[in-house]
Amino acid sequence: MADTDTIAAIASAPGAAGIGVVRVSGPRVPAIAQALLGRPPRPRHAHLAAFHADDGALIDRGLLLHFPAPHSYTGEHVLELQGHGSAVLLDLLLRRVCALGARLARPGEFTERAFLNGKMDLAQAEAVADLVAARSEAGARAALRSLDGVFSRRVHALLDALVALRVHVEAAIDFPDEEIDFLADPAIAARLDALRAQLAGLLAEARRGVRLTDGLKVAIVGRPNAGKSSLLNALAQSERAIVTPVAGTTRDVLRETVSLDGVVLELADTAGLRHTEDEIEREGVRRARGELTRADLALLVTEAADAQADLALLDGLPASVARLVLVNKIDLDGAAPRQEQHAGVPWLWASARTGAGLDALRERLRHLAGAGSGEGAFSARRRHVLALERVQAHLAHAAAALASTRAGELAAEDLRQAQHALGEITGSYTSDDLLGAIFGSFCIGK
Ligand code: GDP
Ligand code: ZN
Repeated sequence: MADTDTIAAIASAPGAAGIGVVRVSGPRVPAIAQALLGRPPRPRHAHLAAFHADDGALIDRGLLLHFPAPHSYTGEHVLELQGHGSAVLLDLLLRRVCALGARLARPGEFTERAFLNGKMDLAQAEAVADLVAARSEAGARAALRSLDGVFSRRVHALLDALVALRVHVEAAIDFPDEEIDFLADPAIAARLDALRAQLAGLLAEARRGVRLTDGLKVAIVGRPNAGKSSLLNALAQSERAIVTPVAGTTRDVLRETVSLDGVVLELADTAGLRHTEDEIEREGVRRARGELTRADLALLVTEAADAQADLALLDGLPASVARLVLVNKIDLDGAAPRQEQHAGVPWLWASARTGAGLDALRERLRHLAGAGSGEGAFSARRRHVLALERVQAHLAHAAAALASTRAGELAAEDLRQAQHALGEITGSYTSDDLLGAIFGSFCIGK
């Protein structure tokens, strides 16, 4: 640790506030603390101190706290200086700390050190950023659970089971005479099946965790004039989208972020999907298609007479995209709102104009966004889901290799790669690029 820099940053939000905090971490902290206090600080004790500049001028009076290594956020010596929440004073205090031997911290560098010193794994470190950035209550609660290790423990349990199975398969390979018998053992297939079931559960929860963190991405599609913009407006309760009776006006993708009782929806109103010779409109249609394949939910807005024909707009979507049909304008024929299920797709009858049936839609959207998803819901990132999907593919390969050809070597290699992919989530296998990308997106002082 002796060759580690001591880093410092203003850890509180910029601007005037009741208090502001300068945080320092690294081996020079004890010396810096003593210089500021005039004597060695007591561990984890709040000292009232007068902070002086290099020339002896008083900067501020505030609290000084020393958390000795390794019992601190970063695992290093940490110093927290709490002063008045003035940008000018905090800047002077930060400069004083740097004059005493610290350097300015990069974004996320405190948490990066916590990770590198084994205070938390990578998924927990990411949860720190997600907690700070949370835009909804459900998102914040989920991030806190991931920070507490709820997600990481699930990954570790999977890793343990995977490693045990690997040991078994590799042992079989080492005894070629008995390999076939070994690998034909139904217990091995059963363990692999159990592992795949466990993974499927975790993957589903991780996907929900991404929606809780990032918000539910909803692509609203439908032919021009179906009422997409009106619906977006009704959901957003604003006039942001242009509502007009002229077909084909919404050519670009309009976006709106909507908070619905503690969850976040990222709504995108796409251009009407239809075949067209108009260049600009064709571009809009192309974008709408892209929007759809990236969405969590494709929401088809249609009218009763067009509904069956418009279903084709939902054709060919990836399995990861949920689908919902909204039969709009029921006020025109005086129908009552209702819900049905057709071929696994929920249908809702509603009116964007009168608002009838929209409560049922909101409730479904909230549910899809992960609301009320139980006490255990944790936050996750796309990166985690992609890694889990790779694990899933490798386990499927391994199962096929064992079942069809008893190809122990192939199975072992897939299990090895599955383990590697799981390790990327917790950070036991990472590249500097990945760490740079993750911690570089943190705010300064975190
Ligand atoms: P978009 O092209 O799909 O975005 O459709 P708009 O939201 O621009 O709506 C097209 C027309 O249908 C406008 O005149 C809206 O006022 C009207 N409209 C939208 N929703 C309803 C509804 O529920 N009932 C009735 N009667 N008209 C609606
Ligand atoms: Zn529109």
